[in-house]
Amino acid sequence: MSESNLVARSDVDEEQVSGAEVIAQALKTQHVEYMFGIVGIPVTEIAVAAQKMGIRYVGMRNEQAACYAASAIGYLTGRPGVCLVVSGPGLIHALGGMANANMNCWPLIVIGGSSERSQETMGAFQEFPQAVRSSTYGRPGACYVDIPADFVNLQANVNSIKFMECCLPPPVSMAEPSAVCAAASVIRHAKKPLLIIGKGAAYAHAEEGIRKLVEQCGLPFLPTPMGKGVIPDNHPNCVGAARSRALQFADVIVLFGARLNWILHFGLPPRYQPHVKFIQVDICAEELGNNVKPAVTLLGDINAITKQLLEQFDKTPWQYPPESSWWRTLREKMKSNEAASKELASQKSPTMNYYTVFYHVQEQLPRDCFVVSEGANTMDIGRTVLQNYLPRHRLDAGTFGTMGVGLGFAIAAALVAKDRNPGQRVICVEGDSAFGFSGMEVETICRYNLPIILLVVNNNGIYQGFDADSWKELLKFGDATVVAPPVCLLPNSHYEQVMTAFGGKGYFVQTPEELQKSLRESLADTTKPSLINIMIKPQATRKTQDFHWLTRSNM
Ligand code: ADP
Ligand code: MG
Repeated sequence: MSESNLVARSDVDEEQVSGAEVIAQALKTQHVEYMFGIVGIPVTEIAVAAQKMGIRYVGMRNEQAACYAASAIGYLTGRPGVCLVVSGPGLIHALGGMANANMNCWPLIVIGGSSERSQETMGAFQEFPQAVRSSTYGRPGACYVDIPADFVNLQANVNSIKFMECCLPPPVSMAEPSAVCAAASVIRHAKKPLLIIGKGAAYAHAEEGIRKLVEQCGLPFLPTPMGKGVIPDNHPNCVGAARSRALQFADVIVLFGARLNWILHFGLPPRYQPHVKFIQVDICAEELGNNVKPAVTLLGDINAITKQLLEQFDKTPWQYPPESSWWRTLREKMKSNEAASKELASQKSPTMNYYTVFYHVQEQLPRDCFVVSEGANTMDIGRTVLQNYLPRHRLDAGTFGTMGVGLGFAIAAALVAKDRNPGQRVICVEGDSAFGFSGMEVETICRYNLPIILLVVNNNGIYQGFDADSWKELLKFGDATVVAPPVCLLPNSHYEQVMTAFGGKGYFVQTPEELQKSLRESLADTTKPSLINIMIKPQATRKTQDFHWLTRSNM
């Protein structure tokens, strides 16, 4: 070997890499595409190294919102997003995002820079592949990786580092064949069947199979809030508009990736028949039999199990009679519910109510847009009016009922849209209170020039507020800390100015005409974000419901 060759060899041998670069390389190898966070000592170098590796870095204004954004990436793409935080307060802020991701069963990796490593804690680099694996295998969830500060800037010989390969995609498990037969038989004998489609089905990309099952067997289905769009909301078999009725009288319910938690009223009377037969399809064994004694449990991947069920119905074709009294009941209820909300939407009072707002939004909503939503009535009523036509295109407060997720989710969705489907829009429908939690992320939206349309449905308060005159009257009786109802927020707040402050477009609208016009303009402009601050009646409420939204336990 010539001398010059030797020199070159030893150069390679001694090629130095920093801890930050090793971390970035490990993330890249695991196909991580996006990182959100707020930098500081000791994690700044990690963000810089990640960018150099081709990972997109989005600097946010609060770790909580960063963590929400990273978790939404996990749900939308199936690969975990990364949230990068500093230790101490940064990590504490991120806790909200980790809890929310866990509750939603969404993969997420949080990387925190901790203090200098004490002598006994070592081997953190090799924890990356494991973090990706444990966040995506089985029931998805959040993972935390702690990086000692001195690891980040440590220089090491590249040959001394054991780089890991990308972990395999999650293994697909199928349900026990006998259980599949049993489930098919229970469905065949149902008098009042119902499929419930949850966000687990959306995450599992089971849309094709579930749609086939619905159409082939003629079954009514009900999407959960984020299950909306797995099959389009306007599908003739969607009974979303008769939700309570469908739950209350079904005799067989198949749950595709939806838990019987508070959102589904625990699966118990009075919201359900006492002897309703549940067929649970879930990837998490511990979930099966929670709150109810299921008739059949199908443990495994929803997509695979749906195919197993389809095989049964291919072998022995069966269709639920389309003219059954169950279908009649459901259709009648849907018609009357739809008429009732149309009636509320067309009320001609000077100030708008929720229904008027959402009807006008729905009219202009692009079919392929992402709909992000949070708030109390804003989210609940919005969900019934705003339609989803595509799977994984609705993001909201979720299982944890978390407020403050909206802007982070919208940012994540906008990045995914930009990279995978340019021109696709993100509409983020916020209550005024919900907007406040992460409102400063508007600066993030403007900095990265993401053409998100933010709608703030403003009723001057949490649940309900006061109009400006009543607020003034109220303050005559004393200091706001003493006399103001805790639900009140400042009346007529100009949230749209948060957007104009950073160069986006802001609108303050009070009439349906103004709303229509501002929406048209915002949708036409694909280059800029906008915020439409929509004033509604401070005391506007929901149409009367058969049941209180939160079923109190009477088990
Ligand atoms: P929703 O809020 O829509 O009712 P939940 O979050 O309550 O949905 O339930 C989602 C369920 O889906 C969780 O219990 C989770 O374990 C399950 N799940 C997630 N991914 C899969 C998958 N690939 N196959 C089967 N079940 C899954
Ligand atoms: Mg409000």
